[in-house]
Amino acid sequence: MKPVLQVKDLTKVYKVDAIETPALRGVSLEVHPGEFTALAGPSGSGKSTLLHLMGGLDKPSSGEVWLGGRRIDGLSKTQLSDLRLWNVGFVFQAYNLIPVLTALENAAFVLELRGEAKEAREGKALQALETLGMKDFAHRRPNQLSGGQQQRVAVARALAAQPKIILADEPTANLDSKTGLALIEHMRQLNHQQGITFLFSTHDPRLLERVDRIVRLEDGQIAA
Ligand code: ADP
Ligand code: MG
Repeated sequence: MKPVLQVKDLTKVYKVDAIETPALRGVSLEVHPGEFTALAGPSGSGKSTLLHLMGGLDKPSSGEVWLGGRRIDGLSKTQLSDLRLWNVGFVFQAYNLIPVLTALENAAFVLELRGEAKEAREGKALQALETLGMKDFAHRRPNQLSGGQQQRVAVARALAAQPKIILADEPTANLDSKTGLALIEHMRQLNHQQGITFLFSTHDPRLLERVDRIVRLEDGQIAA
C-alpha cells in the first residue's frame, strides 16, 4: 500500500542570529493508511519540528516530504497553505481554537475557508462534534469549555475536514492524565471506525500503550 505520508532523509537546522541548531539529522519515515502511530522522545528531540515539516507548516533544510504521492517540500507558502487546507488536519498542544467562535463555528472553520455553504459545513461540523461527544456544547465558546473539551473540539475541527491524515503535536500535554487518556481513546475510535490515520507526539508512557506503533526520536534521529 502507498504511504499517506513519507519523509526521506529529512534534516532541519534552525538558524537564530549566528547560532545553528540541528533539530533533525536525517529522518526517514513512512506512515501508511489507517495507522495509529505515536512519535515519542524527550523534549527537544525534534518531535514538533518533524510534525511541522510533515504537515507543510515549515520547510526542511534538506530531504523530501511526500504527502499522498505528491512531493511538498519545495512548494511555495501559498501552495502549502492550500495543501493544508485540503489534506492535513493539525491538532496543537494549546488547542488553538478561535476564541470568538462557538465550538460549532470552530469545527466548521476549515470548511468555511474552503468556501462550503453554511448549511453543509455546519452539518459536517456537528457530526464531527457528535463523534467526539461534544454535540451538546456546540454553541459554547472556548472559554466556556474545559481544556479536555476544547481539545475534543480541536480534533472535531480536524475531523470535519476529512483530511488524509491528522497530525497532533502533544495533544494531551495540557490535560490531566484521565482526560488525556480519554482524548486518545476518542482518536483511537476514529481510527478504528473511520479508518482515519493518526500520527501524534507524546512523552506520556501511558498513552504509548494505546498505539500500534511507536517511532522514537532521540536528538533529531530515529532511535534504533
Ligand atoms: P520537541 O518537540 O521534541 O520538544 P522540537 O522540534 O521543538 O523538539 O525542537 C528540536 C530542537 O530544535 C531543540 O533543540 C529546539 O530548541 C530547537 N528548535 C525548535 N524550534 C526552534 C526555532 N523556531 N528556532 C530555533 N530552534 C528551534
Ligand atoms: Mg514539541
